[in-house]
Amino acid sequence: MDRLLGLLATLCLGTMAVAQSALPRLGQYDVLHYDFAISLFDGTDQIKGKAGLKMAVLQEADTLTLDLYAIDQTGKGMGVKKVTTGTGDLFFRQSARRLHIWGSEAFQPGSTDLSIEYEGVPADGLIIGENKYGNRTFFGDNWPNRAHHWLPCNDHPSDKATVSFRVQAPDGYQVVGTGALKEERSLGDGRRETHWEAKVPIPTKVAVIGAAAFAIAHQGEAAGVPVSAWVFPENRKEGYADYAPAAACLSFFSNRIGPFPYEKLANVQSKTRYGGMENASNIFYFENSVTGLQDHVDLIAHEVAHQWFGNSVSEGNWHHIWLSEGFATYGANLFLEEANGRAHLEERLISDRQRVIAFANRYSAPVIDTTITDWNKLLNPNAYQKGGWVLHMLRRKVGEQEFWKGLQAYYATYRDGNALTIDFQRVMEEACGCSLSSFFQQWLYLPGVPELKVEWAYRSNGEVVLKVAQQQKEGRYEFPLDVELRSADGQSYRFTAEVSGEDREYLLKPGFLPERMALDPDTWLLFKAQIVGP
Ligand SMILES: [Zn+2]
Repeated sequence: MDRLLGLLATLCLGTMAVAQSALPRLGQYDVLHYDFAISLFDGTDQIKGKAGLKMAVLQEADTLTLDLYAIDQTGKGMGVKKVTTGTGDLFFRQSARRLHIWGSEAFQPGSTDLSIEYEGVPADGLIIGENKYGNRTFFGDNWPNRAHHWLPCNDHPSDKATVSFRVQAPDGYQVVGTGALKEERSLGDGRRETHWEAKVPIPTKVAVIGAAAFAIAHQGEAAGVPVSAWVFPENRKEGYADYAPAAACLSFFSNRIGPFPYEKLANVQSKTRYGGMENASNIFYFENSVTGLQDHVDLIAHEVAHQWFGNSVSEGNWHHIWLSEGFATYGANLFLEEANGRAHLEERLISDRQRVIAFANRYSAPVIDTTITDWNKLLNPNAYQKGGWVLHMLRRKVGEQEFWKGLQAYYATYRDGNALTIDFQRVMEEACGCSLSSFFQQWLYLPGVPELKVEWAYRSNGEVVLKVAQQQKEGRYEFPLDVELRSADGQSYRFTAEVSGEDREYLLKPGFLPERMALDPDTWLLFKAQIVGP
C-alpha cells in the first residue's frame, strides 16, 4: 500500500486574465468575399490588381479601413488607382499600411461592394524571383499578415471570406491557387488566365496563388478529395514520390477528426520562406523539400493537419497560435504514431520536450504570450512543441476516447470559423465531463515546465521512500507522475504519484531490491527533474 506521509507546502494558482488583441475595425465590418484579378509579367515585377470586396458593414462608418502596403521609399508597394462602389467613385487615401476609403455619405450597416484598382511591385507577400533552376516564379507567402503587401484586405485571421483568384500570366506558367479550378483560358496574346475559387471561407494568411513552370501529377483521391503534386519539372519524378504521403495524411485526419474542409489538396514545391506553409488546399513546401528520399513526411503531416487546425478552425487572434501550431505539431506526431507505432511517437515527444526545456532556459514566457507583438516571434517552441505536448498530456488527462471525441467536436463546432483557447477548453470539458481549468491554466499560462526534485531511498524493511518536490519559480502544477523501479534481474514495479501543490512523500513496496528508478517511463509528462537516490 502507498501512503501519503505529509504535507510540506501548499500553493495555489491564481487566475490570470487573458489579454486579447483586437482591432476596432473587426467590429465595424466583415469581408464576405474577395475577387482578386491579378496580372503577372515577365520582365517586370510590377503586378496589376483589381480587387472586388463584398462586405457586410456592421455599424455606420464614415471611413472603411483596409490593410494595403503603400509604395515606400524603395519604390515597392501598391499604389491605388481607383476605388468604386456600385453607385460610383469613392474617395481614398493611403497611409503606410492602410487604405482608407470614404464617400459623400457614411457607409450604412448592410451589404457594400468595393472595387479597388491598384498596381506596384510587392515589397513582400508575393515572392517573385528565380527558383533554384533559374526559372522565374511567383509564390504568395502571406503568413502571418503579409497578404496586404499584394492584396487589399482585412489581414486578420478572424475575418474569413471566400476568395476567387483570376490570374493572368504569360504562357508557360501554370497557376495553382486556393480552392477549385474554375477555368483556364488562352487570352490569345501569349498570355493565359487561370481562375481558382475557394467557396469555403478562409483567412487571408492562407489565401494564395503560385505561378511557375510546373510538372503536375494528379494522384487520385484520398477520402474523396483530389490530391495533386506540383513540382518544378527538373524534380518531376522525385517530387511526385516525395509529396505522395500527403494522401495518407489526409485520410488519417479525415477519419480521426472530420471531413477535409476544402475542395482539393495540392502539394506544391515553392519559394516559401518557411519550411512548409499550410495555405488552404494548396500547401507550399520549401524548394529543397524534394529529395527523392521521402524524408519530409513529418513536415507534410504537419501541413496537412493545419488544414483542419489553423486554416479551418483558426485562432481568433495571434496570441492563441498554439491552436494552430501546437495542433499541427501533435497532429504530425499522431499520424506518425499510427504509421510507425508508439515508440516513434515517444521518440519525437522526447525530442520535443528537450526543445521546450532549452527554449524555456532562454526565454521565460507562457504559451499564450501576450507580450509579443511581432507575430513571427510567435513561431517558437512554446507554440509548436509545448503546444503539442499540452495536447499529449490532455489525451492522458481526459482519456483516449474522450480526447478524440473532443477533437472531433471542436472541429465540428468551429469549422470554417475561429476559436480561442477557452473555446477549446469548453469543448474538451464537455467531452470528458470534467473540469480542465487548472490543466489549461498551468500548462498554457505559466512559463516553462515543472522542475522536480525527486529523492528516493531504499529501507531495510523493503520499502522505498519517494519524495517529490516542485522547484520551479512560478506556480505549482498538478499532474500524475509515473515512477518505475527496476531490479538488477529485470523485475519492475510501477507507481503513479498524483503530484499536486504540496511537496509529498510516498511509501512504495516494490517487493524487490530496486537498482534504479525511471520517471515517466511512458513519456506522458512535460517536465524536468533532478533525481537523488541510489
Ligand atoms: Zn505549422
